[in-house]
Amino acid sequence: VQVSQRRSIKILDPRLANQIAAGEVVERPASVVKELIENAIDAGSTRIEVDIESGGARLIRIRDDGSGIGEEDLPLALSRHATSKILSLEELEGVASLGFRGEALASISSVSRLELTSNVEQDPQGGWRVVAEGRRMEPRVTPAPHPRGTSVAVRDLFFNTPARRKFLRTEKTEFNHVEEAFRRQALSRFDIGWTLRHNQKTIHQLPVARDDHAVERRLASLLGKNFLDNALTLDIATGSLRLWGWVGLPTHSRAQADQQYFFVNGRVVRDRLVAHAIRQAYRDVLFNGRHPVFVLYLDVDPTVVDVNVHPTKHEVRFRDGRMVHDFLFSSLHRALGEARAGHQDGQSS
Ligand code: ADP
Ligand code: MG
Repeated sequence: VQVSQRRSIKILDPRLANQIAAGEVVERPASVVKELIENAIDAGSTRIEVDIESGGARLIRIRDDGSGIGEEDLPLALSRHATSKILSLEELEGVASLGFRGEALASISSVSRLELTSNVEQDPQGGWRVVAEGRRMEPRVTPAPHPRGTSVAVRDLFFNTPARRKFLRTEKTEFNHVEEAFRRQALSRFDIGWTLRHNQKTIHQLPVARDDHAVERRLASLLGKNFLDNALTLDIATGSLRLWGWVGLPTHSRAQADQQYFFVNGRVVRDRLVAHAIRQAYRDVLFNGRHPVFVLYLDVDPTVVDVNVHPTKHEVRFRDGRMVHDFLFSSLHRALGEARAGHQDGQSS
């Protein structure tokens, strides 16, 4: 495009505007999986099934048994800035759902062939399908039988954005990213049953974890059998903060920081303040260059944490970061110290 010549200002076609927005949130198949699973969780699902073909480049299909989307809402589900999750700035500040930007489906459907089928009724013959067509992304709604809940099929990701498509890696690499996105979400909700299939092969089958035993089975299946043998269980609450989960013993550290999961109100985050507090707590017990493993859940009042920091929502900002940092550090420091003392006692007796 020649920019030297002056051209008049035009409002972008919706598809192009959505494709530009997609640049921020839809990097690869795993990002699509993350967004669609978040929607399924927000819909109150108890079962979520993920089907992947060719690493996700050919097909990503997510089925849930959640609330569904009514016929009249379907055209809006695929438009940008349309959400059922917040209505006001006040609601944004106390938002408890994983989504709220109303952008994911619009973005994804602008760079793929997306079909959304949903039913709010128990009648399995009820149900409607919507696709977005053309440059204006006009929604077309047709009847389609579907059990209560929603299915989203995303085919041929980036078929119309060659620059993005070029950055897709091998099927194996893309699937590894998809599996990691799935793992995070499956760790975030033990009360949901999960399935992940790749090219029709079942990779993970995780029933709802109703008791400790089932929770342990899920952890073993997602993180390896020896994870729990080398981890401490933790559950500490002060005021409105609660920290619970599992932290690896210093003897079980890894060369890479590849088994570190931290959830704030069920949302997986990568936060510098959190990372720093954990690093400090392990400082005296871990060799330089080694990384601890952990699966930790921080539950806080949603109004004291801002999740609207970045479009992918991987970052958060705490209103009182200092207090959160101190709470994390002291909780972990104490737990690790007690473990070490216990270990030494055991050796001396
Ligand atoms: P957001 O999640 O930020 O609201 P999305 O583009 O991801 O935006 O979804 C738009 C809307 O479509 C949601 O607000 C919700 O009402 C509806 N929706 C999307 N996926 C599902 C689902 N799996 N089950 C029920 N409703 C859904
Ligand atoms: Mg969403």
